[in-house]
Amino acid sequence: MSRETVAADIVVIGAGIVGLATARALQQRRPGTDVLVIDKEAGPARHQTGRNSGVVHSGLYYRPGSAKAELVRTGRTAILEFCAAHDVPHDVCGKVVVATRSDEVARLHDLAERARQNDVAADWVGPAELHRMEPEVAGIAALHVPSAAITDFGAVAAALVDDLTSCGTRFEWSSPLSDVEVTDSGLRVRAGAHDITARRLVNCAGMYSDRVAHRCGVATDVRILPFRGEYYELVPAARHLVRHLVYPVPDPRWPFLGVHFTRMVDGGIHVGPNAVLSPGREAYRRGSGYDEVPSYLTDPALRQLARAYWRTGLSELRRSRSLRHLVADARRLVPALTPGDLTVAPAGIRAQAVRRDGTLLDDFEFADSPHAVHVLNAPSPAATASFAIGELVAERVLQA
Ligand SMILES: Cc1cc2nc3c(=O)[nH]c(=O)nc-3n(C[C@H](O)[C@H](O)[C@H](O)COP(=O)(O)OP(=O)(O)OC[C@H]3O[C@@H](n4cnc5c(N)ncnc54)[C@H](O)[C@@H]3O)c2cc1C
Repeated sequence: MSRETVAADIVVIGAGIVGLATARALQQRRPGTDVLVIDKEAGPARHQTGRNSGVVHSGLYYRPGSAKAELVRTGRTAILEFCAAHDVPHDVCGKVVVATRSDEVARLHDLAERARQNDVAADWVGPAELHRMEPEVAGIAALHVPSAAITDFGAVAAALVDDLTSCGTRFEWSSPLSDVEVTDSGLRVRAGAHDITARRLVNCAGMYSDRVAHRCGVATDVRILPFRGEYYELVPAARHLVRHLVYPVPDPRWPFLGVHFTRMVDGGIHVGPNAVLSPGREAYRRGSGYDEVPSYLTDPALRQLARAYWRTGLSELRRSRSLRHLVADARRLVPALTPGDLTVAPAGIRAQAVRRDGTLLDDFEFADSPHAVHVLNAPSPAATASFAIGELVAERVLQA
């Protein structure tokens, strides 16, 4: 294969929503900047961005003052404005977080307090009002969050590519980054058939952000663990069972939100997910891609995680292996649900960063290396916050 030499001012690795939003912020801050976006796939949004629940989160859950809380606040408005301006389907449909057991009511109060601190409007709802809003949902108390919305982040990514192309941003598809060399004036990047010289690099490689960071010489013990999110979909005849997004009260010790019901912009309603450690970073089909398994056997972080979360991990695994268990969990929220109401929907895989000592990184995480900025942890709600993350990263790149 003959190699092509390409020069760019800034090269962005990854055409997921974070990389594309960063390219957009670079163009807006400094119009005419020579930006090249490369991706190993043949088009944008082939991984987390195109395989998620499509929720534009309201910012309810996050620790006040955290990057998640701050960046969701500004990011959600920006992405909804972008959707409106570019005819990307979206719907501010609201959500309810429902306590089904008395021990969850105290945690729901904590969540209401957190909503207040994060400036997110959330109304306390009793059983009668909940029944009026969601006749098939059972609960003893709930929080109604009117600002929660849905969109199709894959469609947002496609619109961003169109916009960026018209501003002069270049794209190289099917170009996996395989090597990076730091030089005095910038970097030399090997990606697919291209040898790229750039003054700056931005790492938005999602599932592979740790590997790209290591190639650039970032000294960090953070690595990505892939968690498979398996979903079901309500058959059309069962779609009347929920009207809003319906969530359980989350366990604050676990980074995932529990089995919930999510409306999609195409009219479907997803139920799930399970969150189980995936044997591969892109193992979307069961039984495919076991490439990560050898590293798990010796991973100290995983040993610590297993010790801390074995109970939660086991119940996630049980749900993953048995539809009966998933339905039993989901029926706590919607008692009328039956296994016949569900069909399998596509799975997604979340990139969750973890430290060597087994600490799951809760907040977004960024790092610098010579001539480069890295997005090391961008789990949910990073799609919601992507436009704000892009602003932050662009500022960091242009200041460096
Ligand atoms: C099941 C699931 C449900 C979720 N639900 C929500 C939700 O409802 N709301 C929300 O806000 N967030 C949600 N998230 C999280 C959200 O999808 C992610 O936080 C977000 O998409 C991250 O975007 P990204 O651009 O960082 O990563 P990605 O979308 O994964 O993009 C990374 C890109 O980098 C490319 N790449 C990787 N390695 C290389 C390489 N070596 N060379 C070249 N290119 C490379 C990949 O091909 C990919 O295109 C969910 C995630 C999942 C998996």
